Amino acid sequence: MTDLRTQVLRLLCDTVVPSIDHPDDADGFWARRASDVAADLGVLATVAAMPAEQREAVGALLDGLAAQGFLTAAQARREQILASAGPAVAPLAGLVLLLTYGMPDATGGNPNWTRLGYPGPAPRPAVALQRPITPLRPDGDLALEADAVVIGSGAGGGLIAGRLAAAGARVVVLEAGRYRSEADFRQFELEAYQQSYRRGGPTPTADQNITLMAGAGLGGGTVINWTNCIRTTDRVRRQWADEHGLTDVAGPDFDRHLDTVWRELSVTDRCSEFNRAHEAMHRGAEALGWSFATVHRNWDEKRHDALVAGGLGFGDPSGAKRSTVKVYLEPAVTGHGARVVDGCRVDRILTDRGRAAGVTGRWTSEDGRRSAAVTVRAPIVVLAAGALESPGVLLRSGIGGPAVGEHLRLHPCTVTLGNYGTDMRGWWGPPQAALIDEFAAVEDGYGFLMESVQYTTGLGASAMPFTTGAEHKEAMAGYRDFGSFIGLIRDRGHGRVTLDAGGETTAWYDLTDELDLRNTRRAVEAEIRLHHAAGARGIRVLGHGLPPWQAGEDLEAFIARAGEIPLRAGGAVLFSAHQMGSCRMGADPATSVADPRGELHDTPGVWIGDASAFPTASGTNPMITIMALASRTAEMCLTG
Ligand SMILES: Cc1cc2nc3c(=O)[nH]c(=O)nc-3n(C[C@H](O)[C@H](O)[C@H](O)COP(=O)(O)OP(=O)(O)OC[C@H]3O[C@@H](n4cnc5c(N)ncnc54)[C@H](O)[C@@H]3O)c2cc1C
Repeated sequence: MTDLRTQVLRLLCDTVVPSIDHPDDADGFWARRASDVAADLGVLATVAAMPAEQREAVGALLDGLAAQGFLTAAQARREQILASAGPAVAPLAGLVLLLTYGMPDATGGNPNWTRLGYPGPAPRPAVALQRPITPLRPDGDLALEADAVVIGSGAGGGLIAGRLAAAGARVVVLEAGRYRSEADFRQFELEAYQQSYRRGGPTPTADQNITLMAGAGLGGGTVINWTNCIRTTDRVRRQWADEHGLTDVAGPDFDRHLDTVWRELSVTDRCSEFNRAHEAMHRGAEALGWSFATVHRNWDEKRHDALVAGGLGFGDPSGAKRSTVKVYLEPAVTGHGARVVDGCRVDRILTDRGRAAGVTGRWTSEDGRRSAAVTVRAPIVVLAAGALESPGVLLRSGIGGPAVGEHLRLHPCTVTLGNYGTDMRGWWGPPQAALIDEFAAVEDGYGFLMESVQYTTGLGASAMPFTTGAEHKEAMAGYRDFGSFIGLIRDRGHGRVTLDAGGETTAWYDLTDELDLRNTRRAVEAEIRLHHAAGARGIRVLGHGLPPWQAGEDLEAFIARAGEIPLRAGGAVLFSAHQMGSCRMGADPATSVADPRGELHDTPGVWIGDASAFPTASGTNPMITIMALASRTAEMCLTG
């Protein structure tokens, strides 16, 4: 970065979060700039760590701002310059906000949290700190022999590894992320993103339309997800049986898999206390006559602490979470001799005369100083790297057929905030303790679920669209009074995953299917009506160009305006925590990658074991469905 670019970037930070004179500023919130919490240094470091091409694009943007007199302009003019620079500024502004509100200082606090009402991460529970798994640490290139090698250890891979090992198979698990246990989790948001999330946290699709969140570490998404357990619906099971050839999935055999997984995960509804957002959801649903149900969660009741549960998306230090690490991988390693290599990214699958023969990958030490080639020879390869990465492995390997990477479903989520005029203490209690399924199948079997979300300061701030520094601060000043509802769309349309020139995956998703567009608009309207019925004084849809509704204003006019926000980059802020379908099962090799049992059409011995196997979107939070399918796939692997 040249000096000029550095200066512009630093000033950009303090334009997004400026110092503002305000009469009510005892805690210095209004006066505090981004640079006062060292967010500018964080932004500079992030840009410095970007790949050269991306860094250069940021540099060119900064040059453009400088050419318009950014460095000498006053705040209002700088805001105009940023607005005129278009959507390219949004990711940078988002980063500034993420760091300003999410980054802890040396004491573990952030001065902005006082105004937000966030007490910081829960104190560490007094539980024995355990690290029962000892991953292999290659000392030079590593070559292993096994009966089965499992790529990725999340909801699908972790379960299959456990089942195969328990059945006596010699199993090797290769996981790109790191092994972390309750001994490691501190529930700091940014630390959790860096340690346990794919690509260091929320990242946009290549077209910037949807922000993707996925776990990365031993246990994958099950280590950081929100533990909302929902059985696969009969409607989806019938669709998969009738239209995609998974005939047994509609019958009692699949019930057996669902029941087994439910039991193994200790799923319970006795640890789902309602925080104030859920109380609001309940009030609103009652007033509107909508369905409302308490959520079941995979959680150890004996270790339950609602305060810790509030931050479970940043890892669970209490050990209550029944992740695949706890339920399947620990017994697989300590009881059945399974071997785990974490920090090992599989590059490709090896074949021999058209059959699975093993995999190759590269292990890297956590400090990045050492690396080693890893080869595992095995006749069974289970691909379970998640729906964003599994297609990458197949594409790099040149197997899987024409459907690899197609049919990526995301369950796009809209978000609407209600201002309840009281501290909602959103950081307390399980993030998803209740849901509304009133609209789950509103049209042709497709629709949306209404749920709540985990309280975050960094992501919450960065998702709040930036217009001016003052407006954003105003929104954050009221942040403690917000409760959020999301609409989780069962998408009929789809995106896709491709490879870039460096062999890394790129996800694309444009919400263009007419049914999905209608349902997304219905979801936004339902979120608004729910907040209104629950007594919100203000309602804010996360989307650019839509000022919030205030009590006394015309609600119908607000709903009509909300219905006009474009459902793509620059419009609604859309999230996805559920990626599915990109290596799907089905009867037709032209439109599916694996056969209805989960084995690749074109490469026997390679099995799809994760959410990428879904023929269509599940329409429910997918973990239980992924695991029931994985349980079925494990049996198929063992019986051939
Ligand atoms: C914040 C959040 C909250 C969620 N909450 C819920 C919830 O409450 N209920 C629910 O049902 N679902 C929830 N989900 C979704 C659920 O966790 C995922 O759908 C599920 O974990 C996906 O399982 P998977 O097996 O497909 O992949 P993952 O669990 O994502 O596991 C894939 C693993 O593969 C690894 N990997 C990737 N590439 C490679 C490679 N090349 N080599 C080796 N390893 C690789 C990754 O690091 C990762 O650990 C949530 C997700 C998120 C992000």
